[in-house]
Amino acid sequence: MRFDNATNLATFLTTSHLFSEHIGLNGKKFRKVGPVQYAIHWLYGISEPLILRVVDYLLSKKVMTETPFGKWVLKGIAATSYYFPHGIIATTPAVERLVDFIIEKEGPKGAIIAVGPCVCQRALNQWKEPCKKDMTVLYGADIYHHLNIGYDLISGEQAKERLRECHDAGLVHAIEFCMQSGKWVFVVCNCDTEICVPTRVFFHTGKFLYKGPEIVSNDPLKCMGIEKCGKCLTRCVFGAYQVVDGSIRVKKEKCMGCGLCVSTCAGKARTMIKRQHYPHEHQVPSEILLGKV
Ligand code: SF4
Ligand code: SF4
Repeated sequence: MRFDNATNLATFLTTSHLFSEHIGLNGKKFRKVGPVQYAIHWLYGISEPLILRVVDYLLSKKVMTETPFGKWVLKGIAATSYYFPHGIIATTPAVERLVDFIIEKEGPKGAIIAVGPCVCQRALNQWKEPCKKDMTVLYGADIYHHLNIGYDLISGEQAKERLRECHDAGLVHAIEFCMQSGKWVFVVCNCDTEICVPTRVFFHTGKFLYKGPEIVSNDPLKCMGIEKCGKCLTRCVFGAYQVVDGSIRVKKEKCMGCGLCVSTCAGKARTMIKRQHYPHEHQVPSEILLGKV
């Protein structure tokens, strides 16, 4: 079934999964998602590529990204998009724990995890492997699976394997939710910096991505130095590393908590520790992500 026009919308509203049981997150528990939330999110799902194309067009204009007025407008647009999807950055082990938490909940009549083509790549028709990395969860998996746009239902183990592939490819996991509410958690995006629209907006405005519950910790004595390694400089896409007097320093205030620099650190000088002030407990609790449920 494809939803290309108003007729299909009517079909969806009258005959579809709208009134089936759907599950969403609610803190450390689950909740039933009602037909209103499901329908709103479904509408967002079919509108998303158009929204992304419009934002990509704005980002392609130097007048928007390089002039004070354009930057002001861009920040205004980002601020007024407060209730659109925003993402909490998380490490691979943290998202794997979220997957375990979700999988422990027996699936209702809908899906629990589905993976499909990256929405940004699909919207912009720019493809870069790995492409199939949009990991919808809970009621979001059901919506995107039934949009019939290439989402496959997958097991928890398959989801974790895909997360690790994305990590190895240098992609950043972002647990996305709408309405600034954990009740609207619907996808784990695996973001790059070239095509991903929200990540590029973040670099210009500081909005759309939030720091996760972990932060990097470093042991300078173990660092092998720039000449022998230097991998962390390129691995961190958020610019948390800099070279000072020939050695590598971490600007912890820039660390978003993705963990990408840890797995490739040849000297094992980097680890992830709990962030002291994680401000998104009410959306995705650190107890789920850090394994203390
Ligand atoms: S410093 Fe490491 S954990 Fe922090 S944002 Fe950069 S790559 Fe991610
Ligand atoms: S990746 Fe690790 S060992 Fe290599 S330069 Fe960075 S901190 Fe040092």
